Amino acid sequence: MKRVAVIGSGFAGIAAASCLARRGYDVTVYEKNATLGGRAQLWEKDGFRFDLGPSWYWMPDVFEEYFARFGTTPGHQYTLKRLDPSYRVFLPGTDSIDVPARLSELVKIFEAREPGSGKRLQAFLKEAAYTYKVGMGEYVRKPSVSLAEYADPKLAIDGLRLRMFSSMRSRVAKVVKDDALRQILEFPVLFLGGTAREIPAMYSLMNHADLVLGTWYPQGGMRTVVDGMLRVAETQGVTFKTKAAIHEIRIDKARANGVLTDAGFEAADAVVAAADYRHVEQYLVDAKWRTYHRDWWDKQVLSPSSLLVFLGVRGRVGGLEHHNLFFDEGLDQHADQIYVTPQWPDKPLFYACVPSKSDDTVAPEGDENIFLLVPLAPGMEDTDEQRERIFDIIMDRLEQRTGESIRDRIVVKRTYAHKDFINDYNSFKGNAYGLANVLKQTAIFKPRMVAKKVPNLFFAGQMTVPGPGVPPSLLSGQMAADLVEQYFAKR
Ligand SMILES: Cc1cc2nc3c(=O)[nH]c(=O)nc-3n(C[C@H](O)[C@H](O)[C@H](O)COP(=O)(O)OP(=O)(O)OC[C@H]3O[C@@H](n4cnc5c(N)ncnc54)[C@H](O)[C@@H]3O)c2cc1C
Repeated sequence: MKRVAVIGSGFAGIAAASCLARRGYDVTVYEKNATLGGRAQLWEKDGFRFDLGPSWYWMPDVFEEYFARFGTTPGHQYTLKRLDPSYRVFLPGTDSIDVPARLSELVKIFEAREPGSGKRLQAFLKEAAYTYKVGMGEYVRKPSVSLAEYADPKLAIDGLRLRMFSSMRSRVAKVVKDDALRQILEFPVLFLGGTAREIPAMYSLMNHADLVLGTWYPQGGMRTVVDGMLRVAETQGVTFKTKAAIHEIRIDKARANGVLTDAGFEAADAVVAAADYRHVEQYLVDAKWRTYHRDWWDKQVLSPSSLLVFLGVRGRVGGLEHHNLFFDEGLDQHADQIYVTPQWPDKPLFYACVPSKSDDTVAPEGDENIFLLVPLAPGMEDTDEQRERIFDIIMDRLEQRTGESIRDRIVVKRTYAHKDFINDYNSFKGNAYGLANVLKQTAIFKPRMVAKKVPNLFFAGQMTVPGPGVPPSLLSGQMAADLVEQYFAKR
């Protein structure tokens, strides 16, 4: 039986391991931390249960397809509920918009703010549905190991149709002029690590995911998705080792032959690295076998890091939905302070998640569980003073917009930023969710899924194809398993 070592137990690592075990490989996952699940960690304190990582469940079809591979369904593993409204957007002044689950209601909201935009939204979403079908069905699933994968003329035609070479900003500008509506249509690309100015218009597929497929919530939180995946992995016979940081991938004659942990050397016929790509290449692989140079990594556009604040609040907080976007300040200034002149922001946009609005199990009865996220430039100095300065700014706005006093009711508080991402996940510059999907880092231009000089060393996860986010990481793990299979089939 061929042995495969998988490094990292995030969505990508678990998916790769489960798919390989199902095909009969002897698979061991090595995880540096004491708990499995990568960034989807759970933190519990005084009756509050916080998801430390992802909180938006989008693209339910990707999860369905994943579990179907193993003869099960998301519904068997956790209880999903569609949120309505999907989220609330706070705008400048006292304005706000609730984005409803029903498209017909959203069209009315668009029409009321900008006559004519409702019809254009429907046409845009029709195109986005096509983009989702082709983009998710074809492009996103290509491992992009070779240009030949794109030689099919049909794909070239689709590529033009998908508007690969224009930006989301210019595409959205043809649909709406109203600033608030523009922000709603541009918001989903933030998940891809960039802004609408740089992200290709092909990613309007995210608008289909947002406004048509909808925002879902697994009862108990996103951690329940990991728990479901781990149950599946166990039925497939995957072995998991926690507190098992890999210090080296041993390579001899251009073949990986095992991994080194504190417990010693463990042999493998192939290695799938589903941890931070740059960490693996720079620290676990001898320089002569690396595909990318240190300078190359420094030129890549990373997704933002983030300041996360986890709050347990006594009593209820009115005026908030489950998901809330504070777009009450200009997006471009904050974006520039992430991507152009990296600095801690002056007027940050932020996201407030209040899962206790939909789930009684995440806070003591009658209390509120609040998670705040402020995107930040990666690679900055992370100090307690800066964390507290930003905390004060966003709490002022949160209290002012909800009309509630919250600070004096906080009973649990934890902040989390660059230093924690680095310590916990070996994350390059403390990035929160990988490399941005800007055009020069899309598909064939992403870090390769197969090491150039070591054909049995594979990469998966948010820093390679197809990109950041839970659904892409799930796909990436499955694609890596296919590549391992192809490698062994050729031998
Ligand atoms: C705060 C936050 C909010 C997010 N929100 C959303 C959201 O709402 N929706 C969404 O879809 N996505 C969201 N994302 C993105 C999503 O969570 C990630 O893209 C995805 O979880 C990445 O999975 P992964 O398997 O690629 O990597 P990871 O989850 O990073 O897993 C890699 C694993 O490798 C381990 N590792 C590292 N080095 C070693 C080593 N040397 N030896 C052994 N193990 C090692 C790490 O400890 C980690 O467990 C969010 C991310 C963050 C951080």
